[in-house]
Amino acid sequence: RFITLEGGEGAGKSTQALRLARHLAERGLPVLLTREPGGAPGAEAMRRLLLGGAGLDPVAEAMLVFAARREHLVSTIRPALAAGMWVISDRFADSTRAYQGHGQGVPQAVIAALADIALEGQAPDLTLLLDLPVDIGMARARRRGVAADRYEKLDTAFHQRIRDGFRAIAAAEPGRCATVDATPDADAVAARIAALVDERLP
Ligand code: C5P
Repeated sequence: RFITLEGGEGAGKSTQALRLARHLAERGLPVLLTREPGGAPGAEAMRRLLLGGAGLDPVAEAMLVFAARREHLVSTIRPALAAGMWVISDRFADSTRAYQGHGQGVPQAVIAALADIALEGQAPDLTLLLDLPVDIGMARARRRGVAADRYEKLDTAFHQRIRDGFRAIAAAEPGRCATVDATPDADAVAARIAALVDERLP
């Protein structure tokens, strides 16, 4: 089983990915927790390029995130799934649809073409979208001290497009995606996610 967590800055994806991994382990399931951009040695090298502030053209950036994702899929995700593990990824292809697509204006058709090449049809069994208002997410991210994040300096309108983009993706694919209100405290969100996963992937 392949589960992804998606959402904007400050949504709590990393915390919730860890909590979900623990929950599944408590169900007695073998779990691999991974993240993007990165999750494999070559992909982590590409992450440093991506987040290093080189100021890439948006299409080039989309190609680079998909190159990293390809590496992640082939080196980490597929072998784990083949071994019968449950894979939880903190971000996956929806992040590119939202950030480079809705956020930076790369046409969704371009992203879909890159996804076809990189992923060969591999999609998550379940995507959890952690949704919360942009101002709350930004305040959380700032408190966590990620002011150095390259998106921190971008305006609220950018982050609003990301949020709207994620919501549009979730609305278009209700079979794969579930939206989770990320406003409550971490314990409440973790309980909601555990219940959702147990219900959708028994
Ligand atoms: O998950 P986390 O918030 O740590 O993401 C790391 C960074 O990568 C963030 O700044 C995020 O906005 C960015 N990112 C991106 N394009 C993607 C995926 C993540 O710019 N496709």
